[in-house]
Amino acid sequence: MPYERPNIQRLTAYTPGEQPTATRLVKLNTNENPYPPCDAVMEAIRSVAAESLRRYPPPTAPKFRQAAAKLHGLEPDQVLATNGGDELLRMAVSVFCLPGEMGGASRGGLGETYPTYSLYDVLADIHDTPAIKVPLNEDWSLPDPRKFAQAVIDAGCRLVMVVNPHAPSGRLEPPEVLRELAAALKGHAVLLIDEAYVNFAKRDAVELLRESTRGELDNVLILRTLSKGYSLAGLRFGYGLGHPSLIAALDKARDSYNTDALAQAAALAAIQNTDEARKTWDKVIEQRAWLTDQLRQRGFTVAPSESNFVLAQPTQGPGAKDLYQSLASLGVFVRYFDHDRLRDKLRITIGTPEQNTILLQELDRIAGSKKE
Ligand SMILES: *Cc1c(COP(=O)(O)O)cnc(C)c1O
Repeated sequence: MPYERPNIQRLTAYTPGEQPTATRLVKLNTNENPYPPCDAVMEAIRSVAAESLRRYPPPTAPKFRQAAAKLHGLEPDQVLATNGGDELLRMAVSVFCLPGEMGGASRGGLGETYPTYSLYDVLADIHDTPAIKVPLNEDWSLPDPRKFAQAVIDAGCRLVMVVNPHAPSGRLEPPEVLRELAAALKGHAVLLIDEAYVNFAKRDAVELLRESTRGELDNVLILRTLSKGYSLAGLRFGYGLGHPSLIAALDKARDSYNTDALAQAAALAAIQNTDEARKTWDKVIEQRAWLTDQLRQRGFTVAPSESNFVLAQPTQGPGAKDLYQSLASLGVFVRYFDHDRLRDKLRITIGTPEQNTILLQELDRIAGSKKE
């Protein structure tokens, strides 16, 4: 007899992108930053004292929170440090959504767009709370904020997750649209704006928290991660920004020592040296424009992206799934989603100029061999 809860028995677990181990490969499938973390981060890790590993770490990462508050023009009580952004997502679901029977039929659940970051559904399933999906428009823009809000409020959602820039399309909604959505949800649900990729975008939504002495918008929570922008996916460090009352609620549900001493030291160094990381963002943004152009010249439809990846749809020659498989056999890994509206597209992480060039060469080779 299985001992786990029925919803866990039924659960389809999150599928991460492959982490191939061969040495000569071009890995453009999990949106990592193609450049290494800055020297200050490596130095901070090297200089962690044995004593600070012997002891438990500071439970709430106060130095990091102070520095993050300064970076964003907020107060430290508006910052929560987490073990990767994914931990913040999990905490938000468990703190704001009603599980199983408690929620009753379709009450107290999670609102989201379709498509979106596929982990959201998994977290809702683990928590046994319903996920209500509102389809994005044809151009990946959000539906009218008031209609979107009404749909999820009517369905009884307590938490709404919007990834911005959107994954997997890369589209950015301006903060004005998110403000409208947050205002319409106020009093009903928390709006979690997942800014995992915002370092590669023109604008962020932190102004929603800064306004009117820490916000009449008491229901906005913003996710940040060091995984993408700061080249630290292997470290596991993220943070939440939000109204102090939301941060305090989440903090109650935190693991006692959710971020470790090494990660706290490295994360602090990373956000104190944002100028170093910004150099990598600029390179990625430049390559994004170049790769978009090159893919379009080869007959792909490419959605405009404000992220470190593009969503590309082949319009001639082999289809997306064939391309994905052919590329993988050549050591070039991109991401393929067998989901509605995505199975005819590839999500391609922006790599270094060398990696992007290899991708295009292999695409050309595949196109050539198919013609012969
Ligand atoms: C990468 C990512 C996160 C957080 O990732 P962590 O590595 O756990 O910090 C959150 N949301 C989206 C959409 C992401 O792509």
